[in-house]
Amino acid sequence: MPQIEILLSGFPGTSSRCFLGWSGCYLLTTTRGRRLLFDTAGYNERATVINSLSRLSAAPQDVDFVVLSHLHFDHAANWDLFPNAEIIVHEREIAYADSGGADRAVLRYHTPVLRACGRLRLISAETALEDGVQVIPVPGHTPGCIALSVGKEILCGDALKSRWDLNGPMAQPVWDADLARQSIAKLKQLGNASLSRSRYAARTARGKVARLWRAWRKGLLPGWQRAVGIASPSLGDRGACNAAHHIKPCTRTPAAFSR
Ligand SMILES: [Zn+2]
Repeated sequence: MPQIEILLSGFPGTSSRCFLGWSGCYLLTTTRGRRLLFDTAGYNERATVINSLSRLSAAPQDVDFVVLSHLHFDHAANWDLFPNAEIIVHEREIAYADSGGADRAVLRYHTPVLRACGRLRLISAETALEDGVQVIPVPGHTPGCIALSVGKEILCGDALKSRWDLNGPMAQPVWDADLARQSIAKLKQLGNASLSRSRYAARTARGKVARLWRAWRKGLLPGWQRAVGIASPSLGDRGACNAAHHIKPCTRTPAAFSR
C-alpha cells in the first residue's frame, strides 16, 4: 500500500491582507519505492518545502512525480524545485492558464517553462500512475483540477477546500459551480470514509479543525488567536505570523456544517 506523509498541513485562514494560501502538500511513497509529491505550495514556502522534505529524509532530486492539483499559485509555484520529477497536470489546466482569463491566481507565465522543461505529462482522464495511485479529474474550482486517489484515501486539492464544502456553501473562487458540485459528489462517493482536504490541519485529523471551530463558535477567540499567532503543534512550522496583520479563521456559516 502506498504511504502518505504530510509535507505541509493545510490551514483555513484569512488575514487583513488576503487569504493565507496555506495549502496542504503530501509526500507519497509508492509500493515500488517511488516518491510522489501532491502539490508544491506557494512562492513564500520554497524553503519550507525543502526543509520539510529533509525532515522526511528526502531531497528534491529524489522526487519522481509532482502532481499539481491545479495551477493556482498557492499549490503549484514550486514545481521547478524538483529536477528529476515528471510534472503531471491536466491538459485543460494548461489551456486555462494560457487563455489569459480573469483568474489572477493562475500561474500563467509558468506554462511556457513547463512545456520547455521536457518533463511535463498532460493527462485528460482518470490515469493510473502506479499501483494504488490514480489521478482523478475533479473540475469546477478550475477547469483542470485533479485529485489523487491513494488506496482508500483521496487527496482533493481545492476541489474540496474543507469540510464546509461537503455540506455548506461552496468556497469561492469557483470557475464553474455546477461542475464543482458534481466533483464534490464524486469525491464523496469515492472517498466516503477518509477524504483529505487541502486546507485541513492534517490529512487524518478532521477532528482537529472541528475542535478549533467549536472553540471559536463558543466565543473562545483569544485561544484561537493564540493558536494562530504562536507556534503550536496544530500549526507545525507555520505557526509564526506577523502580529501587525489581523488573522482570523475563514468565516462561513457554521450552521451549514453538519458532518
Ligand atoms: Zn485554487
